Amino acid sequence: MRKRVIAGNWKMNKVLSEANDFIEEVAEKAPQSEKSEAVVCAPFPFLPSLLEKTKGTDIKIGAQNMHHEDKGAFTGEVSPVMLKDLGVSHVVLGHSERREHFAETDESVNKKVHAAFNHQLTPIVCVGETLEQREADETKDHVEKQVTKAVEGLSDDQVASTIIAYEPIWAIGTGKTASSEEANEVCTHIRNVVGKITSQETADQVVIQYGGSVKPANIDELLSQSDIDGALVGGASVEADSYLQLVEAGT
Ligand code: PEP
Repeated sequence: MRKRVIAGNWKMNKVLSEANDFIEEVAEKAPQSEKSEAVVCAPFPFLPSLLEKTKGTDIKIGAQNMHHEDKGAFTGEVSPVMLKDLGVSHVVLGHSERREHFAETDESVNKKVHAAFNHQLTPIVCVGETLEQREADETKDHVEKQVTKAVEGLSDDQVASTIIAYEPIWAIGTGKTASSEEANEVCTHIRNVVGKITSQETADQVVIQYGGSVKPANIDELLSQSDIDGALVGGASVEADSYLQLVEAGT
């Protein structure tokens, strides 16, 4: 039985006082459940405070990116060692905004996924097609290529612990959501791809999230699908009230 994972991605939003207000409310009100996990992926400067305020709760704190090297001359970067040392548990890797604005590639994502596992961080690996690719019927091939490269060289156990977020780029921050059937079709394909690379047993363990304009009004329908095990949420995760509703839907 796969656990649901509801992850919020604040992107580059909030100041520290707002981050603290959010997490205090969420730590107090978030429902606890064996069946699901709530993760908040926040900007680096807020991580120590969020970790402090969620001590003793089930809420997990994640980063939105990291470098693949442990340390060195990489001005402005943050390493997996630093994240692990703080107590971070998850890290979003290969978000389409990082691929688009910061030249991340399938190769660099793969290096980061390995680095995450080297430091016991759970990677949330984002894959997804552009509108042009969808219209050209290239979605499945594109996503297959991204997933295959992202997990290249991992052990089956590591693949089983990887969270894959299917995020069609045309649905991110646009208010357009893939229909739950469309989203599930690609998530099923992703599971089959993982099965081909590893084994059916491994594929059955992989948590696959959908992301792209998920909100309290559409999350139930998305989570009712056979291969959607959670959500990676941008806009609707920034306010505590709406994030709490999303977490509740996962329980
Ligand atoms: C995201 O940032 O990963 C995302 C899915 O954003 P939104 O929910 O705002 O579309």
